[in-house]
Amino acid sequence: MQVPAPFEYERATSVDHALQLLVQLGPESRILAGGYSLLPMMKLRLATPKWLIDIDDLADELGYVEEDGEAIRIGAMTRHRDLLESPLLARLAPIFRDAELEIADPVVRNRGTIGGALCQADPSEDLSAVCTAVDAEIVVRSLEGDRILHMEDFYRGPYQTAVAPEEIVVEIRVPTRAALGSAYEKINRRVGDWAVAAAGAALTIEDGAITDAGIALVAVGAEVSSAVAREALIGQEPTEEVFEEAAAAGAAACNPITDQRGSAEYKRHAVGVLAARAMGRAAERLGAEVAP
Ligand SMILES: Cc1cc2nc3c(=O)[nH]c(=O)nc-3n(C[C@H](O)[C@H](O)[C@H](O)COP(=O)(O)OP(=O)(O)OC[C@H]3O[C@@H](n4cnc5c(N)ncnc54)[C@H](O)[C@@H]3O)c2cc1C
Repeated sequence: MQVPAPFEYERATSVDHALQLLVQLGPESRILAGGYSLLPMMKLRLATPKWLIDIDDLADELGYVEEDGEAIRIGAMTRHRDLLESPLLARLAPIFRDAELEIADPVVRNRGTIGGALCQADPSEDLSAVCTAVDAEIVVRSLEGDRILHMEDFYRGPYQTAVAPEEIVVEIRVPTRAALGSAYEKINRRVGDWAVAAAGAALTIEDGAITDAGIALVAVGAEVSSAVAREALIGQEPTEEVFEEAAAAGAAACNPITDQRGSAEYKRHAVGVLAARAMGRAAERLGAEVAP
């Protein structure tokens, strides 16, 4: 049986308390949210924190999905299940529901949090791609105050983020304008499993032309944001041909590896198909006629 290395445990009663504990206990302390990524890593001794700071009691303070002017504010302790069941997200940012329908199983979804998922930064993780596609801002707090980071600055590569040891992610802000026309497509070996490949798309269309686009490719060795796919879309009419060309450009720029989930060749092909499909569904959600 795999057991973690010995550790001490503290339970935070507020965000401020958690921040004070992080400073007091130092860089060998780690935040524990849902625990569905951190605890398995501790059992495998891939993570050996000396202190765990459990923020489960902050679920009320940091668990919400609210419309606020031109953005949707999502608290970092919002669970996968609440993202899946949010009528607000289904209406204004449907990419979240698309992704959540395919993330893990009900047991994991009942506890796993959006803050934990983004901070884990697993290269196969779905919500990092969702937040990248919709150009979300991540609010990171320390005792000094808040920093607001776009996903491209937040995500530093597999398992790395810009969150410093004394900081906590408190909120994710999703611009409604970007998220209205959005969709997520994923291939996994069974429902709820990690992605073999996945793609998220968020389009803004004005006067029949694409004026903004966010494309994110998952589990294929890409930068999360696919700049080449985005460039191929801006200024174009939303047609199947344009989507296929943009998706092919994104797929060509990826660097997938062959592993137990599939060959590199298959993943590259799959992510191109998924990206084109996600773009098509995103456009349809804006009521756009997508010509062949
Ligand atoms: C069987 C299984 C299947 C899964 N399938 C999928 C899947 O298909 N797709 C997918 O995307 N994910 C999947 N996951 C991962 C799941 O979504 C986790 O919930 C998620 O990765 C981590 O969220 P958590 O709240 O459990 O974080 P934790 O495990 O508690 O924390 C993860 C990391 O983030 C840090 N952290 C947590 N919250 C904060 C915060 N607010 N501020 C700063 N640091 C923080 C922790 O210190 C830790 O380093 C799966 C997990 C399991 C166990």
